[in-house]
Amino acid sequence: MMKRVNKIAIELPVPEHGDLNAASAVQDLLGGKFGEMSTLNNYMFQSFNFRAKKKFKPFYDLIASITAEEFGHVELVANTINLLSYGVTHPADPNAAPLRKGLDSRYTIYFTTTAQAAYPGDSMGKPWTGDYVNNSGALVKDLLSNYVLEIGARLHKMRVYEMTTHPTAREMIGYLLVRGGTHALAWAKAIQMATGVDVGKMLPIPYPDNSKFDHAKKYMEQGLHNVLYTWSEPEYADINKIWKGLNPETEEPLRVIDGMPEGAPVPDFEELSEQFAPGIDPDDYERILKRLMANL
Ligand code: MN
Ligand code: MN
Repeated sequence: MMKRVNKIAIELPVPEHGDLNAASAVQDLLGGKFGEMSTLNNYMFQSFNFRAKKKFKPFYDLIASITAEEFGHVELVANTINLLSYGVTHPADPNAAPLRKGLDSRYTIYFTTTAQAAYPGDSMGKPWTGDYVNNSGALVKDLLSNYVLEIGARLHKMRVYEMTTHPTAREMIGYLLVRGGTHALAWAKAIQMATGVDVGKMLPIPYPDNSKFDHAKKYMEQGLHNVLYTWSEPEYADINKIWKGLNPETEEPLRVIDGMPEGAPVPDFEELSEQFAPGIDPDDYERILKRLMANL
């Protein structure tokens, strides 16, 4: 089962004005082949379908705990897209074409399908698909696939960072670059534990490292590149059998933290009457309030 916490991983800057074309580029980090929906679902199915969980508990614990983190990454990227949609249109009479900006915006889906919010698809509107999930049940093969997936996810994030200077997008990317690098190292260490092969020597994590990205620095200074969370107490603690020793890039000790990060408030988004979202007029709202308050 999952326990839901009404927070997001980090505080995202609330912009005065969003940037819908930046939002559409960020879609690749949500519902693209190497987006957070893919990391979530790869690890989620691998954890559901894991055979001999007791015998191989540290590996099961690693996959299960990182699944929980990826759920929060999906949430963080979706909220980034929603913040990048901030203040783009204004309420008006439908005859005045208040959504005319949708005509020139490259992601028409924001105006037709989602009411200017995240869509479970890539930057071109292609829906996310289960084809992106690799879960063979062969542990080393799946771990190797996860390592490649994290490297691909990181590459996409670096490229979107180079496409947009929007502070909300870059804050999210800076954080996820650090966490993605951590996950790549976690899978590399798991492969080494399972096979004896030093993956970092065979296949170094590609340049550039996080220090090249201004928005990643804060999270490196917090030491988040050395930390894995269990996301549960007291479950999944055996990740410390894999996540131990020194970080090969910085020589700092790796740490397991029981539980989860503190998190930040979930942004709230105003009504968009020009999108009919949520589409409840003031009179209806009063009637709904009365029904909610009534002792039936
Ligand atoms: Mn992630
Ligand atoms: Mn990851």
